[in-house]
Amino acid sequence: MAHPPSPKRSASLDQEQFLTVLSREEALSRFETALFPRPARHEMRKLNDALGLALAEDVIAPIDVPPFDRSNVDGFAVRSSDLAMAAEGSAIRLALNNEIIACGDAPQLVVTPGTATPIATGGPVPRGADAVVMIEHTQPAGARAIEIRRAASPGQFVSYAGSDIARGEALMRAGTIVGSREVGMLAACGIAEVKVACKPKVAILSTGDELVPPGQSLRPAAIYDTNGPIVTAAIAENGGDAVFVGAFPDDEVKLEAAMRAALAQCDMLVLSGGTSKGAGDVSHRIIGRLGKPGIIAHGVALKPGKPLCLAVCDGKPVVILPGFPTSAMFTFHDMIVPVLRRMAGLPPRSDAKVTARVPVRIASELGRTEFVMVSLVEGEDGLIAYPSGKGSGAITAFAQADGFLRIDALAYQMPAGTEAEVTLFTPHVRVPDLVIVGSHCTGLDIVTASLVRGGLSVRSIPVGSLGGLAAARRGECDLAPIHLFDDKTDTYNASFLVPGLELVPGYRRMQGIVFRAGDNRFEERDAQGAVKAALADPSCLMVNRNQGAGTRILIDRLLGEARPDGYWNQPKSHNAVAAAVAQNRADWGVTIAPVARAAGLGFIPLAEEHYDFALVSARKARPAVRAFLDSLASSETRATLERAGFRPA
Ligand code: AMP
Ligand code: MG
Repeated sequence: MAHPPSPKRSASLDQEQFLTVLSREEALSRFETALFPRPARHEMRKLNDALGLALAEDVIAPIDVPPFDRSNVDGFAVRSSDLAMAAEGSAIRLALNNEIIACGDAPQLVVTPGTATPIATGGPVPRGADAVVMIEHTQPAGARAIEIRRAASPGQFVSYAGSDIARGEALMRAGTIVGSREVGMLAACGIAEVKVACKPKVAILSTGDELVPPGQSLRPAAIYDTNGPIVTAAIAENGGDAVFVGAFPDDEVKLEAAMRAALAQCDMLVLSGGTSKGAGDVSHRIIGRLGKPGIIAHGVALKPGKPLCLAVCDGKPVVILPGFPTSAMFTFHDMIVPVLRRMAGLPPRSDAKVTARVPVRIASELGRTEFVMVSLVEGEDGLIAYPSGKGSGAITAFAQADGFLRIDALAYQMPAGTEAEVTLFTPHVRVPDLVIVGSHCTGLDIVTASLVRGGLSVRSIPVGSLGGLAAARRGECDLAPIHLFDDKTDTYNASFLVPGLELVPGYRRMQGIVFRAGDNRFEERDAQGAVKAALADPSCLMVNRNQGAGTRILIDRLLGEARPDGYWNQPKSHNAVAAAVAQNRADWGVTIAPVARAAGLGFIPLAEEHYDFALVSARKARPAVRAFLDSLASSETRATLERAGFRPA
């Protein structure tokens, strides 16, 4: 195939060679080699204008603090040897020298043997004196003398020159972020200005035809730009001066203009989305035209985050983060933060780490460094790290996780029971007061609301009813919300419990058929009639539920042997069923009443589902568990549940 040698074409050919996937270490090392060393930019700033900036050089203390030997109390400067024999029964009399040393007064007279000089807190200790006696421990003895009835140790109530800060000592190291405490130390040394690193100015662009900025209304098939705000915040958190340029459609001409303008103004460019090689993915082609050497790595053996693209254009880093927000965040923290911090004059980030046991096996792809987000809970003998089981598109996984663990590229799994190192997102572990593992429900938020208002932290880890029961059996949670239908006994939940667990009745959720209002196949019919009408119309599309869901059992009973179109569409949540029907991707499905109501759908009641709690008996006495049970039983919670469409048991 012959191609005309257009600049566009040759740029994309150049990039083909970078499509080989590099290891994380190789990609980072090539990126850093292309960027460093580079001249650092600094400026002098007045103390209060330096807040939040990194010191560009060590600060050496120019003076002693305090600058002189200073009295710590109001009293008398004395020679301790004069008071060696002082005791309750033998007072020592000292003649007063003719001066009073207040703060800011330089002493004029020497404290000779047998004399004392009145001195105020903060006053300089005069020549000859080596201790201060508190005024409370003295008695006047005539006009010009005092009596003292206790000995004084040398140095008593004296802060010696340089005891706080010694002249010549390294007060602060380069890279220290200036905060109020640093300002205090600098001011105490008389320093009015410091040399700080200039923050690198970083432009952020989101790309994708589907993106809508938060605050505007969502058109069909569009999503909100999540990466723009997260990346902007994360850049500011890591020493950058973040400039959010906007969310751009995948339009090569417009995007190139925006990228060029941003690069001219800024020290670094961070894009997200469009880094795979899909038809609409144009940013990596543009990079080839922005400057030398261009793309350094396109494809890194990370999971999530493989499509990461790293480039340097005429000395400036240009990065395209993967589109999925969690992938974008991991690659940003792992690969971009080190470079950004170095440009900002900050030391490498010191992440807090803890060791925690992984309760379940985590499968991992061989050949890629894998990051797994985890939630930490307190187990019987130490911390437990629960992997957040959502896909790489899940933004809540990031917000709810406490940190992440890393599975080596050469491992194909992390076995259950591994003691793994967890890197925390925040400097401290905050183990939740109440841990709920199992099926999630919006009603649960109503029950826990009062606990959260009362200052308890509640962690709900959605793993489904069966996963919750398993966690409860292992003692890894306080409560497991379950809604398991036993078709042998035709009852809910009770038959699934084992010794050590007890059933706390929760509430009922009406399950029913949902349809779009006005659909005559469903309006005014009962459940059997509606399903009959649906099955009679070959164009009528259903949405099913996943195998194992309580709802699925109901659906299978309704359908009997029938397998209508849509049967194999089996989402895993009540909300997904409602969304499919509301958005016309299906005509009917089965979901719970509160979800149907929130989606504005028609609803034909079918059967009540029992949503109860398997309580770990050993944890019953914990204050947070008691608070939960109290809330569940309270009339306020019950009323709120009813208003939301639930029926408390
Ligand atoms: P892309 O790399 O452009 O193919 O995007 C991969 C996935 O990430 C798609 O589902 C995009 O809709 C999604 N995505 C891309 N950019 C963003 C963004 N700024 N905010 C939220 N999701 C995004
Ligand atoms: Mg895209």
